[in-house]
Amino acid sequence: MNLLNELMQETEKCINCGFCESVCPTLPFMGYRATYGARGRVFISRESLRELNSTGVISLNIGDSIFSCLECYACYYVCPAGVNPGKVSQMMRTIINRENKNRKNVADMIVRAIIRRKNPLGIRERMSSWAADIDFDRKSDTLLYTGGMYQLMAYSSFLSRIEGKLDVKTVERLASILKDKPELLGLIAIPERRMKERMEKILRDIVFLLKRSGIDFNYLDKEEPYSGAFLYELGYMDEFINYGKYLRDLFLSRGIKRIITLDPHTHEALKILYPKYVENFNFQVYHYLELINLQLRKGNERFVYHQPCHFTMHEDFDVPLGFITKMGVTILPDRNGKSNFCCGGPAELLYPKLANSISNERFKQLKEKGGDRIITACPICFANLSKDSTVFDISEVIREYLNK
Ligand code: SF4
Ligand code: SF4
Repeated sequence: MNLLNELMQETEKCINCGFCESVCPTLPFMGYRATYGARGRVFISRESLRELNSTGVISLNIGDSIFSCLECYACYYVCPAGVNPGKVSQMMRTIINRENKNRKNVADMIVRAIIRRKNPLGIRERMSSWAADIDFDRKSDTLLYTGGMYQLMAYSSFLSRIEGKLDVKTVERLASILKDKPELLGLIAIPERRMKERMEKILRDIVFLLKRSGIDFNYLDKEEPYSGAFLYELGYMDEFINYGKYLRDLFLSRGIKRIITLDPHTHEALKILYPKYVENFNFQVYHYLELINLQLRKGNERFVYHQPCHFTMHEDFDVPLGFITKMGVTILPDRNGKSNFCCGGPAELLYPKLANSISNERFKQLKEKGGDRIITACPICFANLSKDSTVFDISEVIREYLNK
């Protein structure tokens, strides 16, 4: 079935009940304007598709409604008709990008930097400094693949803070200049020092845990490319498939058979999406927590765990929860599992003010549970929720709780 028909079928299933609006994190922070909620996104998509079918064009201005969706999928799990408004938004982005109307310059800018320089900010070479003094097994067919995700957070939080001071139109105008000059984008991308140090420490903690578990692996150093997850999430499907072929050929040329991922977005791209869309993308993909086999102390500390949407709502990946329960007392926020509340991170580069409002709300929900520390298992969640010193990445806590 082609994309248009698939989307038509999905949106026509909607019975207009509005249940999805009650869980959609973007709706309240966009002043309850219907097109910024799950039901509105399905409705506006259906109307646009009908128009596209009958007249060959989309006249409605749907870009901000569709691109501001977080793709968290909270809506999907409450829909009695089985509609997934998050997936509708992702697929509608592909229609928008193909129709060349309602596109977002910021998205185009990121996509071009990924394609030309293999990194969303055009700074691939800067992603490997954390590993300068680590010995990797250069003959191993197992690859530690960061995709640059932890490292990028120090740069994206800086950029989103600048963007947050400007209005959306100014940001779009700036992006229209930068999208053809990814090298300039790299020049203005300056890392936040403290976030950079913390992210590098987290990466070294992960390497420590893997090595302590007896696992050998290689690393691509300055050559390591980004995973391409943004291409999929932003609806650039042709580019995503081509990028997957590039990654496949790169890994094969290095004799890679097994890939260790560190974050939910990269994990989903390599484990689920590329095998679905890219021929012969057949690597064994593991998240690092699946490979760690170490004795941990049990304590009384109360951990509030914020689950990444891409683990709990895009996949059924509960491994981090198992570790937390082994170390201390697990506390889950009211919105967890299949009704998780997103950290706001996916909106950070396109809609920083929206992202900030959602992350403030999520942080409040987590703090209200009264735990000793908040634990995350995703660099995007970590960067967005790090609003005080009680927020930790799971690898840091596991390292602390190792039996000496
Ligand atoms: S919950 Fe499902 S059926 Fe109800 S409005 Fe949302 S998408 Fe439509
Ligand atoms: S995926 Fe999340 S942000 Fe998007 S419509 Fe559904 S609940 Fe709202």
